[in-house]
Amino acid sequence: MAKKQENRCSFCGRSSSDVRLLISGLSGFICEDCARQAFHVAEEFESQSASKSPQSIDWRSLPKPVDIKAHLDQYIIGQDDAKRFLSVAVYNHYKRLSQASQDDDGVEIEKSNIIMVGPTGTGKTLLARTIARLLKVPFTIVDATVFTEAGYVGEDVESILSRLLQVANDDVPQAERGIVFIDEIDKIARKSDNPSITRDVSGEGVQQGLLKLLEGTVVNVPPKGGRKHPDQKYTQVDTRNILFICGGAFDGIERKIAQRLNTHVVGYNSVQNVAQIDRKDLMQYIQPQDLKSFGLIPEIIGRLPVLTYLNPLDREALRRILTEPRNSIIKQQEKLFAMDGIALHFDEDALEYIVDKAVEYKLGARGLRSIVEAIMITPQFELPSSGEKEFTVTLEYAKKRIEKAKIVA
Ligand code: ADP
Repeated sequence: MAKKQENRCSFCGRSSSDVRLLISGLSGFICEDCARQAFHVAEEFESQSASKSPQSIDWRSLPKPVDIKAHLDQYIIGQDDAKRFLSVAVYNHYKRLSQASQDDDGVEIEKSNIIMVGPTGTGKTLLARTIARLLKVPFTIVDATVFTEAGYVGEDVESILSRLLQVANDDVPQAERGIVFIDEIDKIARKSDNPSITRDVSGEGVQQGLLKLLEGTVVNVPPKGGRKHPDQKYTQVDTRNILFICGGAFDGIERKIAQRLNTHVVGYNSVQNVAQIDRKDLMQYIQPQDLKSFGLIPEIIGRLPVLTYLNPLDREALRRILTEPRNSIIKQQEKLFAMDGIALHFDEDALEYIVDKAVEYKLGARGLRSIVEAIMITPQFELPSSGEKEFTVTLEYAKKRIEKAKIVA
């Protein structure tokens, strides 16, 4: 009797009895091992060709600065100057990216990294995050203080980018067009120029480490979560087209601004200038030299050419933040209750009370959320199983809950 012919993998030649799985095609077979290998070859090819020809961005399809600002207005209250600066800088940045491939007239548009100065909790991170979401580019936040703690800058620089890569699903060209928000940049200011910084860190060394990254360099990024094996492959990431947005509170910088303004206004003609200066809001006059007086080295300042500021949030701004942004804290609460079929309502005086408490506890915009949470924990616990269809937070109710909540300022 003729032996039944066994099917074989058309790639490695092994028969169906030697492999666990044999997939049949139109005129042949492939075993699971060869299929897996083919998949890796295809993936490698894909990533190589992708990094060779990064998709260029067509800036014409980008939202215009006015549209970017209008989008920011939906989520962030006030901070008009910062919104304008940011909208223009981001628009120019992506124009520059689309220019890189054409570059015919010899005019090279320089990178427009941004630095935002303003008290903590006034919307710096929110601005950067909202822009990144609008542009659908990878976005990551890093804290400049980690550079000081590790002491070894190289490692940290890489870790920033491995996070960005992760957000970009390991798509290198995509990560290379992303946005990195470096928070607390003021904490790496040089100490000698800034007696108010108490921590003794070699700020200058850290700043030097950041320089290259901001300007543009190719960094060897270890795989996710750090390099665990010596043979693990590094990914090369070029930071030339990554937009860096730095933020910092720069506590006490108003004094530097005041000093500069005072020295500039002595002499003739100065009386008029003095009258024009709004002493209550000095931040609006911030200039790069004030950052230098604060302790940032000139090279860093030079690589952050777009300088803007954020105002402290006053009572009126806090009240607006509570209800006006598209995903305001109150709208989020309403949505949570609506999902249980409960119509939630806040009385105006209850909202005013929440704002008063945020001001009293000096918690700023971040505090609004914890105050609302403290009020809402009980109804959130009880109402979904109560069968109620409506709930109103009155001033009395809000007061009662806060008194019980023991919020520590
Ligand atoms: P910063 O980066 O300046 O320290 P964030 O942007 O992280 O502050 O703000 C903290 C939180 O406070 C945000 O998540 C947001 O809910 C709220 N917030 C702060 N400023 C504003 C603002 N101008 N408009 C709307 N919400 C704000």
